[in-house]
Amino acid sequence: MGINRGRILRLLLHLLLVWLFTFRLAAQEVRVGLFDDQSPKTLVFHCVGGSYHAYGDSVFYREIKIGELVYISLMNGKLVLMDGELHFGAFDQLEIKEVASKSNFRLKLVDPAWDTRQYPGSLEINLFHGTIQIINKLPLDEYLAGVVETESGSTAGFEFYKAQAILCRSYAINNWGKHPGQNFNLCDNTHCQAYHGVSEGNPMIHDAVLASHGLVLADQSSSIVSAIFHSNSGGETQRATDVWNSGEEYLQAVLDPFSLGQRNAKWEKSISFAEWKEFLQRKCQSDISKLNDDQLLILQDHRKKHFILGNDSLRLADIRSELMLRSAFFSMERQGDMVLIRGKGYGHGVGMSQEGAMEMARQGFSASDILRFYFYNVQIVEIDDIPESELPEDFK
Ligand SMILES: [Zn+2]
Repeated sequence: MGINRGRILRLLLHLLLVWLFTFRLAAQEVRVGLFDDQSPKTLVFHCVGGSYHAYGDSVFYREIKIGELVYISLMNGKLVLMDGELHFGAFDQLEIKEVASKSNFRLKLVDPAWDTRQYPGSLEINLFHGTIQIINKLPLDEYLAGVVETESGSTAGFEFYKAQAILCRSYAINNWGKHPGQNFNLCDNTHCQAYHGVSEGNPMIHDAVLASHGLVLADQSSSIVSAIFHSNSGGETQRATDVWNSGEEYLQAVLDPFSLGQRNAKWEKSISFAEWKEFLQRKCQSDISKLNDDQLLILQDHRKKHFILGNDSLRLADIRSELMLRSAFFSMERQGDMVLIRGKGYGHGVGMSQEGAMEMARQGFSASDILRFYFYNVQIVEIDDIPESELPEDFK
């Protein structure tokens, strides 16, 4: 009997720890700055699921039921909230809190005009440097589902979405303090991660985020990795140090057959040969006019870091950005007065190729297989296994 009681106690303790752990992570809330780069002045809040309570300067003001709209605008240095019957109140700060979980609202930016987007969670609205600051407060996993859909669409497979969710969670935690002094953790555009609200396109995305709950990608020293990805590698990923001046050891080049044959695997662009010669002369220290025309053409069977021309060395990543090319992995062919650029892949080529990862998922590879294919010597771990010293100050 004594042994049984001991076992039962241990089991109860285990269940309690699991519950506490799950509760802590489930309760993890993220504050996302919406339209932070748009200097909002007027917006419309439309309750489309559940119900909300509006608080003005921390005092309950009114309920907003399903189907109801309220207008919020900046007038004479105050946030003015007006309903459909033209009742209004003026405040320094507003909170529109969800009453039941799973509440949803649509947000329409009127000034400046922007497409309507739908969000889960609550809303906080502050006066901030002469504009309206809009903050969406929601559970981390719901935010991640929105990010995964915005960053990768709604037609991929489950293991791909799990891999993408682990990367987006790793990115979010690593960049938790990217907006110091702004009341929010992350913004909703590509400065942080693109987040256009609730994920609705494919319920599998929610399931994949939940299935990867609390998981991040870490390197051998238990630091969360820089979760870098791009659209298509063109058949080879690029070492990070070949694109930027620094890079972590786990961001190595890998041969990537999974990206071949995908939508963004190839591209072409033509420019005039005269324009290309003029570009090279501008970038090179030495006189290129003495060189044979054929020497001026870039050829890459495999990805290179530089184009060497006489004594000059031009970084291909820089040529890509100046000529606004889809990738730095391309070769050139002279066609009369023109140069045909035949390129492979889309994006900087570092880290995970999204289209390659989608193909791996279709072929039956797991999220773990996918991440360990694109990142060298990494492991998937629980956030709780990351030492506190490796977590951003704000996230601890
Ligand atoms: Zn940002």
